[in-house]
Amino acid sequence: MKQIYLDHNATAPVRKEVMDVMMPYFTDEYGNASSVHSKGQAAYKAVESSREIIANAIGTESVDIVFTSGGTEADNFAIKGVALANLQKGRHIITTEIEHLAVLEPCRFIEEELGFEVTRIGVDKYGVVDLNKLEGSIRKDTILISVMFANNEVGTIQPIKEIAKIAKKNGIYLHVDAVQALGKELINVDELGIDLCSFSAHKLHGPKGIGALFIRKGVKITPFQNGGHHERKRRAGTLNVPGIVGFGKAVEIATLDLQKTDKHLKKLTKRFFNGLQKELKELYLNGHPENRLSNTLNISFRYIEGESLILNFDLKGIYASTGSACTSGSLEPSHVLTAMKVPPDISQGSIRFSFGYENTEKDVDYCLAEIPPIVKRLREMSPLC
Ligand SMILES: *Cc1c(COP(=O)(O)O)cnc(C)c1O
Repeated sequence: MKQIYLDHNATAPVRKEVMDVMMPYFTDEYGNASSVHSKGQAAYKAVESSREIIANAIGTESVDIVFTSGGTEADNFAIKGVALANLQKGRHIITTEIEHLAVLEPCRFIEEELGFEVTRIGVDKYGVVDLNKLEGSIRKDTILISVMFANNEVGTIQPIKEIAKIAKKNGIYLHVDAVQALGKELINVDELGIDLCSFSAHKLHGPKGIGALFIRKGVKITPFQNGGHHERKRRAGTLNVPGIVGFGKAVEIATLDLQKTDKHLKKLTKRFFNGLQKELKELYLNGHPENRLSNTLNISFRYIEGESLILNFDLKGIYASTGSACTSGSLEPSHVLTAMKVPPDISQGSIRFSFGYENTEKDVDYCLAEIPPIVKRLREMSPLC
């Protein structure tokens, strides 16, 4: 059976070129990057060269990059680390209703454990953060604003530059979860005015379990993980050398190919959505019509449950998801679609198709042959119709 993977926002397959550069660091170049001997120094050099590639890709210097175990750790580090280091300044932070759980849960943690107050800003029907509300919620004791670059469920891109201006004017740090944007959108932390920025390798065809946090010079942050003097005392723990090497390669290729991939993905998603619209009624595209990740299509199929669609697609070798991989299985409506005020009878039939560079027009055409009959059959059986 054909297998069409359309769940790249959950994780993307590792590129062959990435695998190839990683392999030697498991076998021949197994040194600890902190060791003084040649084996250690070879590993150290590889780590630093990756750090430089990643720093260059986001318009900063390598000293500002701290490697973490992934996007979740980077988000936790940014939020809890800034909260702990700035307690005397205040205990209020601002975030949005549509963040990933890797941001929402650390926010809840500092609320419950450190006595913080958290303001969660809503979004419009396209998933764009309300800037007036954001600015209006700033207080004297606000220390941090955390807003994602691009949403993992619907793909909407936020006005980061405008948010950064508001943060800067008020002397507040801005943290951006850019896990879904790296390798898909141009990110320049200096031009945008970002103070802290989270990344993860496995969302851009790198290995799982490695990510990074950009920390602008001068940002007060308490280390999240304590131990040895790794990462300039900002993150203790023996470095994941193969992971870091793979992360660097993945960023290098994605950055080089960015425009080409973007064009390819726009073409595929357009062909897919237009094709579905030709065959099916009552389809809704969730997210911003233009200001969106070009690989992400979140579509509501009215009158059907998302979970039954996923299972039926799976039988045909088509792999997609309902919203976020982390919350699926819960059958609760997505917090992102709820924040966008998508009515429950529409949001329940929502599927996220997230494409990757390796998908082809043939893949799309296979899906266009298989999906409409499934939807029609399920609608015929639906008590909601
Ligand atoms: C996947 C994802 C994360 C978590 O990253 P991991 O490396 O899987 O821990 C955080 N934020 C967003 C927006 C994501 O899509």
